[in-house]
Amino acid sequence: MGESLPELSKHKVIIVGAGIAGLAAATHLTQHDMNDYIVLEAQNRIGGRMCSAKINDQHIELGANWIHGVLGNPMYELAMASGLVDITHRPKLPSIIATTSDGTKVPFQLLQQTYGAYMCFLRRCEDYFTGAFDPPPGIHSVGEHVQLEIAIYLEKVQNSSIRKLQRLIFNCLLKRETCISGCNNMSDIDLVELGSYKELQGGNISLPRGYSSILDPIHSKLPPDCVKLNSRVTKIKWPSGIDNGTDSEDSDKTVIEVGGEDVTDETVYVHCGNKIYAADSIICTLPLGVLKSNDIFCPKLPRFKEKSIGRLLYGVVDKIFLYYDRPFLGKDMDEILLLWDNDETGDWSEKIYSFSKVNDTLLLGWISGNEAEIMEKLDDIIIGNKCTEILRRFLNDPCIPYPSKLLDGKPMNLV
Ligand SMILES: Cc1cc2nc3c(=O)[nH]c(=O)nc-3n(C[C@H](O)[C@H](O)[C@H](O)COP(=O)(O)OP(=O)(O)OC[C@H]3O[C@@H](n4cnc5c(N)ncnc54)[C@H](O)[C@@H]3O)c2cc1C
Repeated sequence: MGESLPELSKHKVIIVGAGIAGLAAATHLTQHDMNDYIVLEAQNRIGGRMCSAKINDQHIELGANWIHGVLGNPMYELAMASGLVDITHRPKLPSIIATTSDGTKVPFQLLQQTYGAYMCFLRRCEDYFTGAFDPPPGIHSVGEHVQLEIAIYLEKVQNSSIRKLQRLIFNCLLKRETCISGCNNMSDIDLVELGSYKELQGGNISLPRGYSSILDPIHSKLPPDCVKLNSRVTKIKWPSGIDNGTDSEDSDKTVIEVGGEDVTDETVYVHCGNKIYAADSIICTLPLGVLKSNDIFCPKLPRFKEKSIGRLLYGVVDKIFLYYDRPFLGKDMDEILLLWDNDETGDWSEKIYSFSKVNDTLLLGWISGNEAEIMEKLDDIIIGNKCTEILRRFLNDPCIPYPSKLLDGKPMNLV
């Protein structure tokens, strides 16, 4: 007896990935009365890098946390329309301290002054995008440009200990920038393109029930059962004529029957475990890391697309949440900037640029790049011990307790 062919499920559109991009695409189709689609999602939840978790009954966001900007931001409009924004909430200014690894606290005024200079350096990088000026010769990245400005600035600082402290603050701010830009090092960020990023007015908005609370209102407006969870796409077989401008008109399509469904020679087949889905079109929202590391397309994507994927950079940014059984940080301390002395040992943990207080018993550390990847491979106990060692040193307090629980970005990792 011959093996039976897997049943073919046919739709107009298949969306790959149920992160916010995939869900936005689905919303767009539904808003235009096109409901013959499915969304294939590898994980057992929607949201992708919008991901909430619980740590001792406290809600935390492992990925996206803020809506960046109000005016013209569809996420803000959606959050408002869904009643998720608390417009009466006025966030208080955080109280930030910066300390060196021997526990010396930097005067706030020096921190403020250095931060002001740093922001000027960063803003100046944005000017090259308009093409009105050329970057200095040999300077191609934001990191190189900012370092050049820092060197010129520090040359003028007479007092050597102040100069050293300012250098450490600049280093810390550059590490922070890698978490904002999602890169390993600011020398990865193209200088001329920095100004192409359009910042929306209105600041950073956080939702009282967490950024992920926006997923429910989006999901509830989609057709029931259109999102297929635990459906990891392994192969996308597409007719190569579609993308290179040689695809034929609809009337010329050859219609054949496969698995009880009419398909054309322009049908896209998506393999998902032992299931095959067919569609006229596919919207692929796979993360860049997956696109780079997978051989998912058959035939391969056109060369210009492969080249773009190859040239685009993606980085790792992780949060480390530390949960404590009792509060221990002073009420007046919301964030501790860690002023590592230039690459003390080269340990992964020196990339953590700060710990901030989410609440009295929850601390949040940020880490990016190669060091974040190293951290992701470590056991939670090792990470917790390392964070405690850092806090004890930088706060000069040997009594700082070990966290009783720890959560980092591992649950979001898919590549
Ligand atoms: C720590 C961190 C903090 C952040 N903070 C913010 C913030 O404050 N504000 C902000 O606006 N943005 C923030 N971001 C960025 C934001 O989270 C992302 O830009 C956004 O969530 C990306 O959405 P996406 O749909 O493009 O990709 P993803 O969310 O990555 O979605 C892709 C989906 O595809 C699925 N998938 C992967 N492979 C397959 C496969 N083979 N088959 C089927 N499905 C597959 C994945 O599981 C995932 O669900 C942050 C990101 C991180 C990591």
